[in-house]
Amino acid sequence: MTTNVILLGPPGAGKGTQAKTLAERTLLTHVASGDLFRAALREGTELGMLAKSYMDRGELVPDEVVIRMILERIKAPDCELGVIFDGFPRTREQAVALGASMAAHNSKIDGVLYLSVPNDVLLRRIAGRQTCKTCGATFNIYYFPSHKPGICDACGGKLYQRSDDSMETAQHRLDVYFAQTMPLIEHYQRQAILYEIDGQREITWVNEAMLRALSQFMVTSAQPKE
Ligand SMILES: [Zn+2]
Repeated sequence: MTTNVILLGPPGAGKGTQAKTLAERTLLTHVASGDLFRAALREGTELGMLAKSYMDRGELVPDEVVIRMILERIKAPDCELGVIFDGFPRTREQAVALGASMAAHNSKIDGVLYLSVPNDVLLRRIAGRQTCKTCGATFNIYYFPSHKPGICDACGGKLYQRSDDSMETAQHRLDVYFAQTMPLIEHYQRQAILYEIDGQREITWVNEAMLRALSQFMVTSAQPKE
């Protein structure tokens, strides 16, 4: 019996951290589409080369190729109990294609965990981010400011802000994300497998809430669905 989960969350929702912790606390394997890509390119697999041929032409890798990579990945022995998808699907079209391909392999998505965080909080989380030039410690001018402005608490180094973390760029990233993702969320809502989690709460609370949601559909996945 496998359990396949998709983790969704806008930039700034803490999805990466949560995916890692969730994988550590369950027997599910974290499958991040970015890692999948890098591994396929590094190992020079047939699909990796195919993906590269598109990237070399400056084109997007077609969904079909990404889905073949995913199907290949989830056949690996370490995915026997199930996976946590991170970074794919991003659009409704991708979700439909992934669902169909998985169904053809007697597999399916059992649940979708969606980290929901209000727009203004996401904005401040992204645009308030500061990193120490010397030791890499991170701060946030709104939520977790350093003691002295611009100076690292840990080592006294200088703090900097990434140029693409300005309010305007952050809002643009969020707009793009939500335009793509809302139809995806509705798609899984209609299938009644979407679990919304309050991503505003602290990290440990969010992780517990995700585990609770997971335990719910690990049970219901044994029951027939429409
Ligand atoms: Zn520092």
